[in-house]
Amino acid sequence: MQEHTLTNADLIRRSLAAVWHPCSQMKHYETFPLVPISRGQGSWLYDFDGNRYLDTVSSWWVNLFGHGNPRINAALRDQLEKLEHVMLAGFTHEPVVELSERLREIAPPGLGHCFYGSDGASATEIALKMSAHYWRNSGKPGKMQFISLQHSYHGETLGALSVTDVALFRDAYGALIRQQATIASPDWRNAECGETAEAYALRCAEALETHLQQHHEQLAAFIIEPLVQGAAGMAMYHPAYLRRARALCDEYGVHLIADEIAVGMGRTGTMFACEQGGITPDFLLISKGITGGYLPLSIVMTRDAIYQAFYADQTARGFLHSHSYTGNPLACRAALATLDIFAQDDVLNTNRAKAAFFNRIAQPLREHPAVRNWRNTGMIWAFEVATPHADFAQRCFTLGLQHELLLRPMGNTVYFMPPYVINEDEMQLLASRTLTVIEALT
Ligand SMILES: *Cc1c(COP(=O)(O)O)cnc(C)c1O
Repeated sequence: MQEHTLTNADLIRRSLAAVWHPCSQMKHYETFPLVPISRGQGSWLYDFDGNRYLDTVSSWWVNLFGHGNPRINAALRDQLEKLEHVMLAGFTHEPVVELSERLREIAPPGLGHCFYGSDGASATEIALKMSAHYWRNSGKPGKMQFISLQHSYHGETLGALSVTDVALFRDAYGALIRQQATIASPDWRNAECGETAEAYALRCAEALETHLQQHHEQLAAFIIEPLVQGAAGMAMYHPAYLRRARALCDEYGVHLIADEIAVGMGRTGTMFACEQGGITPDFLLISKGITGGYLPLSIVMTRDAIYQAFYADQTARGFLHSHSYTGNPLACRAALATLDIFAQDDVLNTNRAKAAFFNRIAQPLREHPAVRNWRNTGMIWAFEVATPHADFAQRCFTLGLQHELLLRPMGNTVYFMPPYVINEDEMQLLASRTLTVIEALT
């Protein structure tokens, strides 16, 4: 680890020789080089050759309060001196207890217990298994199918892939999974001309109702990303859909799983996106931002009635799932420090002011003739770019880096999901330089 002697070129060469990078065709790195990062500070990442990049995507949607956050660092140092890890089966520790208690206080009412995993996909697996097992314990073993929205993303392990509707993955791994049905997405970009986002959401809920009517006896749960379907290209929809989906799931006896892995932790303007629909899901999935972007951790919160259905003398009626690092104390402590910052800094209100500021200064970008479907929910912005380039995403990424921006478009959808510590100067820079990049590519 001789940081002072390393260059970008050194680390790129060694990485390509030894690391298989995720979400990548490795050969593409011949044309679009890796970006070696030596350190992070606040909203910025720094490479080995003295360049810096504004982390506009929060390092894959996980970072909330900047890189190298002093308060989270201090909490982790303190925890390191006490306990780095202990198994959670048969044992317990203070950070996991305190985190579970505090999440119960801030989550939608009625979610009494927390089950722990290590990443988002595991949280999806846990919720799917728990839902089906609940129905079996309740004398309805036939309820074991799931439904999700079109273009949904719930993770990439095989169970999570079965409720993930990404064509590339379906084609590559479809044969390995038990395919589940998808329901029309309330994404307002698909509304008819003149139809409001709310009217369109309610029209899509009718499709949900039809499906529930016909299949509820086989259905365990409906899994959704509330308000924003992230991997679909930040598809946004009206909260009326959440209310209607909750009512329909209740009517037909189907669980509602809210995957708030990306949209939770204040990202949509409220602590949890479900709050905007005024609903409590049967399962709430939390990961990504929960540790402030420091350590892998995921949590499945569930209602007391579901927890009670597993409480019995027989082991087989209990929930059968575990990971080696379940409830890791360091990760839980990072999560507690993250929750402290939310409380101490009045983050949700501060973010509201930041979002209003950014919407004001981004006006020239929004009005650029190639920019379509400008949209914003909380601390997420997205728009499509009318561009002649089929490889727009790669070009935009590369050109962004040259302008000190880490932009990572999905197809021709550009989005911003910045750390909450982004300041006014950084927002100015983000808006003006993105405009420069878009102008060069259209
Ligand atoms: C990222 C994400 C996941 C998967 O989380 P991993 O930690 O990457 O496994 C699941 N659902 C949503 C909505 C996500 O954004």
